[in-house]
Amino acid sequence: MEKELAARLGAKKLRRDEPLGQYTTFKIGGPADLFYDATSTDELAGAITAARELDVPWFVLGLGANILVGDKGFRGLVIRNTSQHFNFSDDG
Ligand SMILES: Cc1cc2nc3c(=O)[nH]c(=O)nc-3n(C[C@H](O)[C@H](O)[C@H](O)COP(=O)(O)OP(=O)(O)OC[C@H]3O[C@@H](n4cnc5c(N)ncnc54)[C@H](O)[C@@H]3O)c2cc1C
Repeated sequence: MEKELAARLGAKKLRRDEPLGQYTTFKIGGPADLFYDATSTDELAGAITAARELDVPWFVLGLGANILVGDKGFRGLVIRNTSQHFNFSDDG
């Protein structure tokens, strides 16, 4: 599962045992088995699609201001949404 995920998301971008405390407002939280920074909407959608298709539990992390992470962390893939640019178009 991890090999396939690394093949789809890029091995260099997929981090293992990433402590989550550093990404939350309350600065607490154990490690995510797998961690991925999505820097664009395509990367965000691609990571969620890959996790779904490979049956990997996943969680989207924003700024971490409205979650509490336990000491055990997260079993699966945490996808941190760091995409910056948003376009709102009139056509919805
Ligand atoms: C000191 C403090 C003050 C606050 N004041 C307010 C306030 O006045 N009003 C208010 O409404 N909230 C407030 N909040 C709560 C928090 O800031 C908001 O709820 C904020 O919207 C959380 O966004 P986040 O990116 O940090 O989400 P996170 O904490 O990262 O995630 C929260 C939930 O949203 C989901 N999520 C995150 N990003 C996405 C995405 N792109 N797509 C789908 N799901 C996603 C996550 O999976 C998770 O379930 C406060 C929090 C703190 C710590």
